[in-house]
Amino acid sequence: MTEIDHTTKDTESPGAEIRPGSPASAEGVETSAGGNALSRREMLVIGATGAAALATGASAQEDAPAAPPVASGAVAGMPFRAYVRHGTEGSVLDLRLRDIKPTQVLVRTRGSCGCYTVTTSVLGDFPQQTPTIPNHSGMGIVEAVGAQVRRVRVGDRVLVSGTPWCGQCHQCLTGTPEWCNYLAPGGVPNDPIADMADGTGVIEAAVIGGLSEIIVAYEEYCVPIFSDLPDEQIAMLGDTGAVGIAATSVYDPVQIGQNVVIFGAGPIGLAAVQGARAQAAGQIIVVEPASYRQALALEFGATTVLDPNDDTDTLVDRIRELCAPATDRLDAGGQIAGRGLISMRGADLVVEASGFDRYPPAVETGPDPTGLLALRQAWEVTAPGGSLVTLAVQIGDIAFPGSAFCLSGKRIYGGQMAGMNVMRDTARFVTAMETGAVDIGALITSTPPLDEVRHGFQGVADRTELGVVISFPA
Ligand SMILES: [Zn+2]
Ligand SMILES: [Zn+2]
Repeated sequence: MTEIDHTTKDTESPGAEIRPGSPASAEGVETSAGGNALSRREMLVIGATGAAALATGASAQEDAPAAPPVASGAVAGMPFRAYVRHGTEGSVLDLRLRDIKPTQVLVRTRGSCGCYTVTTSVLGDFPQQTPTIPNHSGMGIVEAVGAQVRRVRVGDRVLVSGTPWCGQCHQCLTGTPEWCNYLAPGGVPNDPIADMADGTGVIEAAVIGGLSEIIVAYEEYCVPIFSDLPDEQIAMLGDTGAVGIAATSVYDPVQIGQNVVIFGAGPIGLAAVQGARAQAAGQIIVVEPASYRQALALEFGATTVLDPNDDTDTLVDRIRELCAPATDRLDAGGQIAGRGLISMRGADLVVEASGFDRYPPAVETGPDPTGLLALRQAWEVTAPGGSLVTLAVQIGDIAFPGSAFCLSGKRIYGGQMAGMNVMRDTARFVTAMETGAVDIGALITSTPPLDEVRHGFQGVADRTELGVVISFPA
């Protein structure tokens, strides 16, 4: 574990408290340890749970405190490096950490998943009013926790997910945990976590950042990971990898033999292909213009790949015909085609994961850079009673024919994180990765270090890369 640098702040400061009443309180350690008492500095480094165990000879498991170890207030001044957007510049800077809050967790970053959504935040040249560490997920090792934190402990391997779960807000309690109110603008304060050399405060994008040796995250964003999977694979579960698997397994999970259509075979779409295959989908039809992504879709389990540039006007009809049942005999489970917008035919589950072009792609691209055509087609190929999960971001407004939109019985899920409850779903995604049911590692094409973050995100923007994980060696 990396040692905390306390050189600029006395660990006996009022903030360097040990949770009162805990079996791991400073007094308890010193009393039971006899001549083997540990300093507060040592406790902060190894965590109070481990400190108590060392001091008493008991294992941490046997003597686990009700509350986690505490290191609040003792981290101010810690130096670390981060990619910071400031003004119109973007560069890796040396920063000094501020104190963490009682509900925050200090994570020593190991990986941060590159996300297409934030490419403009990393590479763009628009002025950044407040210096900001971009991105919105990461993973690493918990190095300190605030006094009120319970979910994770010092030393835990942890995912800082792009979506929080508090379990107590209105959305968490009423079935839409992907919109946990900690995610909402103003849900939690986004105060500076560190200072630049001139004393200017630096904030984290989405109260997470990620392109940094240190992430300071609210507890609600932290998901402890109990697995030996490689760091970069866990990092993918903070964003694209998890979203793709979730698209096929959270809102309306794929049933054996069902037809699934996936628009877009980027990291999200390809993870969705894997999720559909893992759940024994019947057909997995992928719509994707880039040839290398088409090939990967087939490799990961797609049964048909269609290029959206080929006879664009007939794409919807071709997909509907592919999804037709084996008979049109209505007294034998069959189906007729229907007419116009009230087509009977279509897929049981459709995933829209193509999105608009923030930058001109360096690979083959589809017929509509706004992404709206793919969204409309995705809705049209969803069968009556079928489900559409929309994951991508488009430019502009979209129109649907009113009657068909209202009456066709299609279930539409606007899929922030594909509906994930990150505390419930991450663990089962980890299990699926461990058993080999899905292979998120195969989606990772680049693991650049922090100093090459711009190059890494350029590959995301160009769509020449799939899973890009900015990596921080231990
Ligand atoms: Zn993202
Ligand atoms: Zn919540």
